[in-house]
Amino acid sequence: MRIHKKTTLALLVILLFVSACSAQPTDVPTPTHFALPATDTPAPPTETPAPTATQTPVPVLERAQYELNAIIDYDAHTVSVDESILYPNLTGNQLNTLVIAIVPNLWQGSFNLTGISVDGAPTTTYSIDGQRLDVALSSFLPAGNVINIDLQYTLTLPFAEQEDPGVSRPRIYGYTSRQLNLTNWYPFVVPNIEGEWILHDPWFYGEHLVYDAADYEVDVKFTDPATAPIVAASGLQEQEADSTRYTITSARSFALSASRLFQVSSTQVGDVTISSYYFPLFVAGGQAALQTAVESVQVFGERFGPYPHKSLAIVMGDFNDGMEYSAFFYLSKDFYNLYDGTSANYLTFVAAHETAHQWWFEQVASDQALQPWVDEALAAYSERIYYESIHPELVSWWWTYRIDFYDPQGFVDIPIYDGQGFRPYTNAAYFQGAHFLEKLRERIGDEAFFAFLKDYFEQGRGKIVTANDFFRILSPHTGADYSDLVRQYFQNIYQ
Ligand SMILES: [Zn+2]
Repeated sequence: MRIHKKTTLALLVILLFVSACSAQPTDVPTPTHFALPATDTPAPPTETPAPTATQTPVPVLERAQYELNAIIDYDAHTVSVDESILYPNLTGNQLNTLVIAIVPNLWQGSFNLTGISVDGAPTTTYSIDGQRLDVALSSFLPAGNVINIDLQYTLTLPFAEQEDPGVSRPRIYGYTSRQLNLTNWYPFVVPNIEGEWILHDPWFYGEHLVYDAADYEVDVKFTDPATAPIVAASGLQEQEADSTRYTITSARSFALSASRLFQVSSTQVGDVTISSYYFPLFVAGGQAALQTAVESVQVFGERFGPYPHKSLAIVMGDFNDGMEYSAFFYLSKDFYNLYDGTSANYLTFVAAHETAHQWWFEQVASDQALQPWVDEALAAYSERIYYESIHPELVSWWWTYRIDFYDPQGFVDIPIYDGQGFRPYTNAAYFQGAHFLEKLRERIGDEAFFAFLKDYFEQGRGKIVTANDFFRILSPHTGADYSDLVRQYFQNIYQ
C-alpha cells in the first residue's frame, strides 16, 4: 500500500463529489408534425430511392457529416457557428421529423438560433424545448435518402463555476479564468433506434447522451488571431490561411478546449500523435498522463482492437472530473495536483480509464443513460488490464484503493436515474461491474475472456450496442456456466 495520508484525505474530499447537473431536466416535448407529403407518395424503403420533387438525390452516406465553421471570441466567451449537417436516413423507415439535440440550450441564454434551413430552404416548422429541437420536414425523407440541415447560431458560454462538489456536478461546458471548453456544443441529430429518437433527460451524475458515429470537419477561427489561445481538439489539425481545420471520421462527438496557458507534450505511437495539454507547473503530471495514454493505446490496441484515429488529446481540465470525448479526454486538475511521481494514483488510472473509452464509448457505443455499465464497467476493468500489463505489481493495490475502498454494492445494470447518488451509482455500474468482469474472466479463463472482448469489439465497432448484445456475443465463447454470476450482479436476466 502506498497511500499517503494527506493524499487519502484530499481524495476523500474530491471523491465525495455528487454530480448535479445545473441544467433543468425538461419534460419530453410534444413534437410538432407539420410534414405532409405534398405530391409524392412516400416510397417504401428501397436501396436506390427515387428522387422527390423537393430533394436532389445525394449518394447514400454511411454516416452523418457535420461541417462547422466556428468563430470564437476568447475574451468575450462567445462562439458564432455556421453548421451544415448531411444526415442519411439509415433508420429503414421514412422520416417526417428530425430530432436534434441542442445541449447548450440547457443553460439559460447560452444558445441563440439565428437561422435554420432544410435542403437550402429556410424553415419555421420547428420547435425547441430545452435540449430538444424537433424539425418537421415538409416532405417525407425516404429510407436511404440524405437531407441537409443548415443551422446558424451563437453560443454565449456560461462561466463554468465549480461549486461545492458535494452539491453540484463538475461543470465542463463554458469558461473559467484560464480555459474555454466546448463539449456537446453543436446541434446533432440523435440516434433513431427502432423508430424512437434517443434523447434522454440530463441527470445529476453520469452521462445522458447517446451518439451515432459521424464525420466532422470543423473550421475554427479566433476573432483576434494575435492573442489566439492554444487549442486541443478532437481530430487532426491542418493550418489554413486564417483558421485551423480539424477533421475526424466515425467519431461520436467533437470536443475542443482552449487556453492561453496550455503547454503541450506529444509522442508518436505508430501513426497516432498523442498530445498532453496542461497548465504551467504541471509538467510532471502532464508527462505522466501522456505516458499512461501511450501505454494504454498500445495495451488496448493489442487486447481489444485498433485505435481508430490519428490523434489523441489529453487535456488538463479546470474542473473536478475526467471525461471522454472522441480522440480527446479531460483529466481533472486535482489529479495533477495529487500526482506523486508514482503510477499508484488517480492521474494514472483515470488516464487509463479515459483512454479505454476510446474503445468502450468511441468505437463500441451504448446508451449511457439507461445502460451506463456497458461502457463504464469495461472502462473501469480496462484500468486493471492496463496495470496487469504495465505495472503488474500494482494490480492488488488498484483493487484495494480504486475499487474496494468504497465497499461497492448494488446491481451493475442500473440506469443513471436509479443510482441514488454519485457514489452508489459508480459503486454499482463501475466497480461492481469490474468485479463481475473479474469473476467472469476467472470462470471462463483468460483465453476465452480476451477472445470474447476482441469479438465484442469487432461486432460492436461503429454501432450502439446493448447489454443483450454483450451477453449474446459472450455466450458462444465458453461452455462454462456463468448464470449464477449474472444473477448475483444483475437485476435483469441476460443469457
Ligand atoms: Zn468512464
